[in-house]
Amino acid sequence: MGGYQAMTLLVAKFGGTSVANPERVKDVARRLVSCHRGGSQVVAVVSAMGPATDELLALARSVNASPPARELDQLLATGEQVSMSLLAMAIEALGVRAVSMTGRQAGILTTTVFNRAKIAEVRADRLKKELDRGRIVIVAGFQGVTAEGDITTLGRGGSDTTAVALAAGIGADVCEIYTDVDGVYTADPRRVPRARRLAAVSYEEMLELAASGSGVLQMRSVEVARNYGVVIQCRSAFTAGPGTLVKEAKDMESAIVSGIAYDDSEAKVTVRDVPDRVGIAAEVFSALAAAGINIDMIVQNISENGTTDISFTCPAEDLTKLRPVLDEQVCGLGVRGYVVDESVSKVSLVGAGMKSNPGIAARMFRVLADEGINLNMISTSAIRISVVIEGGGATRALRALHTAFGLDSDQVFEETQLSSEELAAKAEKGR
Ligand code: ADP
Ligand code: ASP
Ligand code: MG
Repeated sequence: MGGYQAMTLLVAKFGGTSVANPERVKDVARRLVSCHRGGSQVVAVVSAMGPATDELLALARSVNASPPARELDQLLATGEQVSMSLLAMAIEALGVRAVSMTGRQAGILTTTVFNRAKIAEVRADRLKKELDRGRIVIVAGFQGVTAEGDITTLGRGGSDTTAVALAAGIGADVCEIYTDVDGVYTADPRRVPRARRLAAVSYEEMLELAASGSGVLQMRSVEVARNYGVVIQCRSAFTAGPGTLVKEAKDMESAIVSGIAYDDSEAKVTVRDVPDRVGIAAEVFSALAAAGINIDMIVQNISENGTTDISFTCPAEDLTKLRPVLDEQVCGLGVRGYVVDESVSKVSLVGAGMKSNPGIAARMFRVLADEGINLNMISTSAIRISVVIEGGGATRALRALHTAFGLDSDQVFEETQLSSEELAAKAEKGR
């Protein structure tokens, strides 16, 4: 343990845009070197450069439409290995010793679930030794290793979780997540230009926002932060500023609505004329669970003539796994058939103050009705209300709700740092 307590121990994560090209890698190197020279021990976690992960995925799919999960992880993990070694080289060029480490070298042990593994343990002895030798340590985000020695990845956006788990594992004083916006906003500022940066947000609210589609932090990273009491500071890699603190709710005022999230990555499936008998829902959803399909919302109507429709949402990317289960197993249960709608979007209001303020759902539905937006499905938690609507109305819904719940800022969000190609890629991702 020795020297750790005395010096500030910092974990700083840089997302794909922040290391997208050599110039940005050098900028990150300069920032890390200046922290190091200021007397901090520094661990940096990096994502793959720019669109590298998407490109690797496309490459995999060009040789196999559904690539084997283990091989996909072997491939995807290479993206972060490029950026980690380049960053270490850029730091060395500034005259400071640096060492890059893969997930395995950094002791990131995970479950054996390829493509969406969870970090089970961090064995950071080697990493700590390198810090004690005065080096800046660069860790490849998004990857780990199973007990059997296989490489795994942690799901899209997983470098956030690498950073938070490492911060917990080595007892860091701060976990900074540097990205291409200057914090967590009341809504995605690229979609709602009048969104406001939040100075602080509670774990509880950030978890709901992340679960509802706010991709700024991976949901699992917020879970780990909450479980281990790691304070996350989410800030811009390009501009100075305090960003957003994600932390315990105490001493924070609880707004009725803190943020609005948006998710168009899910599809809605309706199973038609399901026989209305005891156990049928268990049979349908057991079949889906056995195929590893994550179900989000479920709605069952009252039965007419002994049958009922059941609708649910699931990740659109699971549809290739889902269709055979529906065709071979669910259709065998005597249902009439099924309909898939991939064009839906989910819009969610999140706020800890909802617990003690009735009527938020009514107001939300009124705002959407006034915009002429039809609600397909509704679900709630203690601090969240989500609705599924036709995809086409999503941006209108978001902006109308943002205004109606008093979240609009007087300033319009301005993009300063990204190239037009990067902005186009972001827009494509958020569609
Ligand atoms: P990184 O590559 O740094 O991990 P991500 O693309 O994963 O960056 O996350 C940052 C993006 O998250 C922003 O560019 C922004 O468009 C999007 N985003 C979605 N919801 C929010 C929100 N509530 N606040 C800030 N950014 C958000
Ligand atoms: N490179 C990975 C991804 O694109 C992990 C990350 O960026 O956090 O999802
Ligand atoms: Mg991310």
